[in-house]
Parts: sequence; C-alpha cells; structure tokens
Amino acid sequence: MDFALTEEQTAIFDMAQAFGADHIAPHARDWEAAGTIPKQLWRDLADLGFGGLYVSEESGGAGLTRLDATLVFEALSQSCASVAAFLSIHNMCARMIDAYGSEDMRARILPKALTMETILSYCLTEPGSGSDAAALKTRAVRTNDGYALTGTKAFISGGGYSDAYIVMARTGDDGPKGISAFLVMDGAPGLSFGGLEDKMGWRSQPTRQVQMDDCQTSADTLLGEEGQGFKYAMAGLDGGRLNIAACSLGAAQAALDQTLAYMRERKAFGKPIDQFQGLQFRLADMEIDLQSARTFLRQAAWKLDTGAPDASTFCAMAKKQVTEVGSRVADQCLQLHGGYGYLADYGIEKIVRDLRVHQILEGTNEIMRLITARHLIG
Ligand SMILES: Cc1cc2nc3c(=O)[nH]c(=O)nc-3n(C[C@H](O)[C@H](O)[C@H](O)COP(=O)(O)OP(=O)(O)OC[C@H]3O[C@@H](n4cnc5c(N)ncnc54)[C@H](O)[C@@H]3O)c2cc1C
Repeated sequence: MDFALTEEQTAIFDMAQAFGADHIAPHARDWEAAGTIPKQLWRDLADLGFGGLYVSEESGGAGLTRLDATLVFEALSQSCASVAAFLSIHNMCARMIDAYGSEDMRARILPKALTMETILSYCLTEPGSGSDAAALKTRAVRTNDGYALTGTKAFISGGGYSDAYIVMARTGDDGPKGISAFLVMDGAPGLSFGGLEDKMGWRSQPTRQVQMDDCQTSADTLLGEEGQGFKYAMAGLDGGRLNIAACSLGAAQAALDQTLAYMRERKAFGKPIDQFQGLQFRLADMEIDLQSARTFLRQAAWKLDTGAPDASTFCAMAKKQVTEVGSRVADQCLQLHGGYGYLADYGIEKIVRDLRVHQILEGTNEIMRLITARHLIG
C-alpha cells in the first residue's frame, strides 16, 4: 500500500493551487459581492484541462482518475470553495454526457463543454423533493419531435447562468425506474428561471429555480435510455460527493494555514497566542482531523476508481466525515482569530459560510448516514 502521491499527482495539485492563488483568490470576495463569476475564468480553467477532468481521453477529456480530481478540488478550494464547487458540478455533468450520451450528443456537446464555452448544471432537486429525490414530479411527455418537459427544479447551481441543464424528469411510473435524464439547452422554448436565491454561502454562484412549462426538447436530448435517469444521476453523485468533500478539505486547510500565521503574530498576555498550550492542543486536533479526513477521502476515491463494490458507501461516508471536519476546523479557526475572524477582511468567515452547505447538498449528511447504515445492516 502506497499513500504517497505520484509526481504527476503532485504536479496536478500544485498547478491547481497556483492557478487558484493567482486567478481566483484575489477576486473571490468581489465575485461574492457581485453574485456571479466571470465566464472567462471557466475558459481559463478549461485551458488547464479542468473542464472535463474525468471525461475520457477518447472524448477529448483529461481522463483523470477520481482521486486526481479530488486533488484539483482540494487545491482550488484553498482559494475559494464556491468557485471550486461550481466547477465540480460542471464536471459531474460532463462525465454524465460522456458516459451515457449518444455518440451524436457527445459530438455535439462535449467539445464546447470541455472548453467551458458550454457550462453545465445539474437539475435533480424540486421544491417538494430533495432527499427523497426519486419522488420528483417534473414530467417529460413524448411529442412528435421529442419530449415536452413540465415542472420546477429548485436550488439549481448555475440556474439562469449555465448554457445547458441535465434535467431528471419522469417519463414513467412513480419511483426511480420512471425517471429519465435530458439535456436541456438554454433558450429552449418553455424554459425560464426563478429569482436569484439569497444564500448564506456560495454567494458568488448564482442559484435559481429552473422552470419548464411545456419545454420542448428534441428526441436526441435524452441521455442513454428511458427509465435509467435516476441511476445515471446517482452515479454522477458518487464523484460529486468526493469533490464536495475535497472542497471542504482544501478550504479548511487554507483556514488552518492562515490561523497558524495569525497566531504567531497576535499577542495576548505578553506572548504570541500560539504559545498557550490550550490553543496548541486545538491546533493539533485540527491537524489530526484534517490529515485523517484526507486519507479517508483518498481511500474512497481509490475505491471508486477501482470499482470496489462498496465504493458508493465509502463516497457517502467520506462526504459526511470530511464535510463535518471541514466545517468544524473552519469554525475553530474563526474562533482563534477572535473578533477579527468575524470580519470579512480576514477571509475566515467566508470559509465558514461557504462550507456549511456541503453538509446539505449532494445528499444531506443524514442521507449519507442512511446509506452507511443500510450497508451495515444489509
Ligand atoms: C446552495 C445550494 C445549491 C444546490 N445546488 C443544487 C443543484 O445544483 N442541483 C440540485 O439538483 N440540487 C441542488 N441543491 C439541493 C440540495 O441537494 C438539497 O437541498 C438537498 O438534497 C436536501 O433536500 P431538501 O432541501 O429538500 O431537504 P429535505 O429533503 O426536505 O430534508 C430536510 C431535513 O430532513 C432530513 N431528512 C430527510 N429525509 C430523511 C431521512 N430519511 N432520514 C433522516 N433525515 C432525513 C434531511 O437530512 C434534512 O435535514 C442545492 C442546495 C443548496 C442549498
């Protein structure tokens, strides 16, 4: 068993970290205030191959492993978790198109998805169904030319901003087997968006409802086969959960690094605050938590890469564990900054706000426990 990163993996991490430090970190607060991310950033990230991290090489993607991809998200989120997580959603969708789209769909969509001229969003959640996603109500009805979709998707990251949406909709009976996946292009007749959601974190990413009213799509927008959409959506989430966990890890690591530097300088009672043993123990606990979270995350990614039968359970366990560690560490870092941690200038409060949602989306951490418990009790 070898726990070391290869030279190539270290280079991927370093490249992503350097890109983030130069091109994301200096602007992250402005983008948060603006509530949007300039689209040129995605083109620049795509130049590094980050538009299709685990899209196969035959389809023009980077063909990286899931473990490699977690390195990219861990490194980028040291600069901004909101930006890194948005890139994860696009990558999850690009992989779904590569894995399940027809040859024609791959040829039509992937080239521009890889350059991120076409930004992709993932639409599963509805106002009435989140955790119980298979209860979704959006309907897709066959027409002469393809399908007509009617329904509302809630909380869609990139809603009204992205160029194409993977929409899970019901073509059959109740339950997961009645669900199919479609690729709906921006501008499709009958497609509209709700107002911008006002959120605690991830504020640079626009989140809106995606509304479809008799939205017309051609037959070749169906991904794979009818009735398989829920399976595709869940398979996409395995990798998505790893990436979200990696985003928590990277941002929490950045918070800890910054906190160490701060504590070296900040004095109280005549000495730097990192000289108080009570605080040193808290630093040590954070380091231990982050190191074990990292190892667990990479093990889960390795399981997904090697097709282990318990890979999905490990992805769920790692998502729960790492996102909770990440939030706990970020919160502790805020505390160790005293009042300054609460000020936007120091960047820690943004990390606390951005990481909180990682315990909620891509399946809540309660659902991650449900998956784990089902695995345990059979
Ligand atoms: C900022 C943001 C961005 C998002 N982006 C997207 C996106 O791009 N695409 C997308 O499809 N969705 C997206 N989501 C939606 C997200 O995935 C859902 O919010 C999440 O799955 C939870 O669903 P819900 O909000 O309906 O909560 P509910 O399902 O109503 O859950 C409410 C509470 O009950 C708990 N609960 C529910 N069922 C059980 C159970 N069986 N056992 C124990 N506890 C349970 C939950 O854990 C939670 O604590 C986003 C959400 C947010 C906040």
